Amino acid sequence: VSARVLDGKALAARVRAEVAAQVTALAARGVVPGLAVVLVGDDPASQIYVRNKGKAAVDAGIRAVDHHYPASVTQAELLDLVVRLNADPSIHGILVQLPLPAHVDALAVQDAVAPTKDVDGFHPENLGLLAQGRPRYISATPRGCMRLLRESGARLAGAHAVVVGRSNIVGKPMAMLLTNESATVELCHSRTADLAGEVARADVVVAAVGKAGLVRGAWIKPGAVVIDVGINRGADGKLHGDVDYAAAAERAAAITPVPGGVGPMTIACLLENTLESAKRFVT
Ligand code: NDP
Repeated sequence: VSARVLDGKALAARVRAEVAAQVTALAARGVVPGLAVVLVGDDPASQIYVRNKGKAAVDAGIRAVDHHYPASVTQAELLDLVVRLNADPSIHGILVQLPLPAHVDALAVQDAVAPTKDVDGFHPENLGLLAQGRPRYISATPRGCMRLLRESGARLAGAHAVVVGRSNIVGKPMAMLLTNESATVELCHSRTADLAGEVARADVVVAAVGKAGLVRGAWIKPGAVVIDVGINRGADGKLHGDVDYAAAAERAAAITPVPGGVGPMTIACLLENTLESAKRFVT
C-alpha cells in the first residue's frame, strides 16, 4: 500500500469527543440533546446500524430514544409517531432508519419529519438548502466524506471529482457538497457509458454504489484521493467496499478503508447534526 490510509475510526473518535464536550456544556445550560431513533422490522444490518448510532449517542451524552416497530406497522402509525416526535420539545433529532418495508412510502415518512429536526438531512427542504449552498443539515454520510476529504488535504477547488452512485442520501448530496467547494463534479450511475474512463480522469473519487470492488484499482488516476462509501458483506462474511482496495491503494495518494473509513464518520456526523439542532433551542 503506497496510499495514505484515511483512518475514519480515529477521526470519528476525535469528532465524537468534541461532540461529547459540547453536549456537556449544553447540558449545563439545561438542554440535553434528544435523538429519536425509529427502526421498523428485523433487518439485521439496520439493527446493527441503529444499535451503533444509539450507543454512540449515549456515549456522547445525547439522550437516545428507540422506537422499534414490527415490519407490519402501517404508514399511518409511522406518520402518527413522526407527528408526535415533531411536537416533542425534548427531541431535537429524528432518525428513521432505512430501508422501510415496501408497503410504507419512505419518501412520505421523510417528508413528514420536521425539517428542523431532520438530522439525517433527507428532507427535501434540507436537500434544497444544500443545493443552494446554504446547508442546514448535511446528511451524515456525505458530511463524513467531506470531513475525510478535508483530512486528506486534497485541494477541492478546481479538482475533477467523480461521484459514483446518485442516491438521494449519498451520491446526490455528495455531488452538491463538492460543487459548493468548487470542484468540477461528474455524477455517475448505472447508465454511465464509460465508468472506467470517467474515474480515470478523477482527482477525487467517491464510490457509493453497493457493489463490492466495482471500482477497479487500475482505473484510479495516480495521486487521486479515494473515498469508499460502500458496505458490502462478502461470501467470506467480511465487509468490503465498492473499490478494489488493494489495487487502488497502489495508485491513490489517500484512500479510506472498509471497514474503518466512512462508516464511523457517518455516526460521528449524525451526532454533530443532533448537537447542532439542540443548540438552536438555547436562547
Ligand atoms: P443505492 O442503491 O440507493 O444507490 C446505488 C447507486 O449506484 C445508484 O445510483 C445506481 O445507479 C448506482 N450503480 C449501481 N450499479 C452501478 C454500476 N454498475 N455502475 C455505476 N453505478 C452503479 O445505494 P446508497 O447510495 O444508499 O448506498 C451505496 C452504498 O453505500 C451501499 O453499499 C451502502 O451500504 C453504502 N452506505 C454506506 C453508508 C456508510 O455509513 N458508510 C451509509 C449509506 C450507504 P442508478 O441510479 O442508475 O440505479
